[in-house]
Amino acid sequence: MSDEVVIVGAGIVGLAVAFHLQGEGRRVRLVERGGVAEGASRGNAGAFAFTDILPLASPGIMRKAPRWLIDPLGPLAIPPSYLPSIAPWLLRFWRASRPDRYRRSLVVQGELMRVASGAMEAMVRDAGLSDRVRADGNLQLYESEAELAGAQEGWEQRARAGIAFEHVRGARLAELQPGLSPRFVAGTFTPHWKTVDDPYHFALALFDAVMARGGTVTHGEVTSVAPAEGGVRVKLRDGTALDAAQAVVAGGAWSRPLAAGLGDAIPLETERGYNTTLPPGAFDLRRQLTFGGHGFVVTPLSTGIRVGGAVELGGLKLPPNFKRSEAMLKKAAAFLPGLRTGGGAQWMGFRPSIPDSLPVIGRSRASERIVYAFGHGHLGLTQSAGTGRLVADLLMGRRPSIDIAPLRADRF
Ligand SMILES: Cc1cc2nc3c(=O)[nH]c(=O)nc-3n(C[C@H](O)[C@H](O)[C@H](O)COP(=O)(O)OP(=O)(O)OC[C@H]3O[C@@H](n4cnc5c(N)ncnc54)[C@H](O)[C@@H]3O)c2cc1C
Repeated sequence: MSDEVVIVGAGIVGLAVAFHLQGEGRRVRLVERGGVAEGASRGNAGAFAFTDILPLASPGIMRKAPRWLIDPLGPLAIPPSYLPSIAPWLLRFWRASRPDRYRRSLVVQGELMRVASGAMEAMVRDAGLSDRVRADGNLQLYESEAELAGAQEGWEQRARAGIAFEHVRGARLAELQPGLSPRFVAGTFTPHWKTVDDPYHFALALFDAVMARGGTVTHGEVTSVAPAEGGVRVKLRDGTALDAAQAVVAGGAWSRPLAAGLGDAIPLETERGYNTTLPPGAFDLRRQLTFGGHGFVVTPLSTGIRVGGAVELGGLKLPPNFKRSEAMLKKAAAFLPGLRTGGGAQWMGFRPSIPDSLPVIGRSRASERIVYAFGHGHLGLTQSAGTGRLVADLLMGRRPSIDIAPLRADRF
């Protein structure tokens, strides 16, 4: 039996897991059926949102959801044909939004973010990625004092978790982002929020670092991961069988069947997200802007200005509806007068989402040699290095630095 660790999925999570295992002296093999980082990790908004500790499953979302659902191109949509399939997940999401469950998830998310932030700082340094990170914070915008007041409880929860922020108006708001529409009367600046140069380039550079440390890649689709005598056996659709000491399932939104084969029924769904990347210089954007009331962000990347977000609970098979990208771009043009909206490239990606807004990081039911690392929803880039740290602890037989019971696969 080989002493290697096989990692299913070469998205940002699989790559960060590989990098951390190599740091422990382990040999790693990534198995990827498509291109490296061509899933959700390719076109996301590029934020290290370490301060974003409020679980999406929250009493607040349950209040906003009905209004959002009325607009078919609004921040939240459920294609009618997918409603029966997503109903059980929605029921779990609703249960996870209850105040007691929300408060528990908030504490867990805060702890995970502390690990994520420290691990990312180390990974960025050790993989030589420092030049790819911008540390100029995020500016969340409000169209009325009432909207800011409505967000106040969330900011108080962040303050209790030690997160720094500044509510801004007038000249300070204009200094942080000149040229905003006057409809925005206030903002909240979070200075410790970071963004990458481009999430695809960032992931490819991490992949290069993994390869430079001796990692290998096999192209192919994994059909099963199972315990075997003294290790694990990973089978591919073309009939290949890979024997390894341990395995990690990091297949993003596509991980559910592999976990089911190991006896773990995980309520993994996808929140599809959309964006448009405009050419560089489309706007004099000083930092990432969040239009929370409209469910999208605008991000300055080295490759252009990315406008996007939204949640479409539409599963893995329905074709994309790029009218969503267009709707957000139209709003962005109104919010940022002078934004040049021509020449953009549209994209849709599959966020891997668990109803309680927490990822699955932990051992499989079938074998402690097989570990899960998926389901990071809106935060997979942010939590990738932290996940790598925790998975490496588990596979090296060490107790992780935080209690990962709330992240286990058998919590459902
Ligand atoms: C519009 C949008 C904006 C976002 N913005 C942010 C952000 O600003 N910050 C942030 O932290 N997160 C953000 N996210 C979320 C983030 O993109 C995801 O959480 C993250 O990319 C998930 O990474 P992953 O490696 O788990 O999955 P993926 O990147 O999807 O990678 C999974 C890989 O596994 C492979 N795979 C799956 N099954 C198999 C199999 N059976 N055999 C072989 N290979 C397999 C797939 O081909 C894929 O390459 C955003 C997402 C979207 C859609």
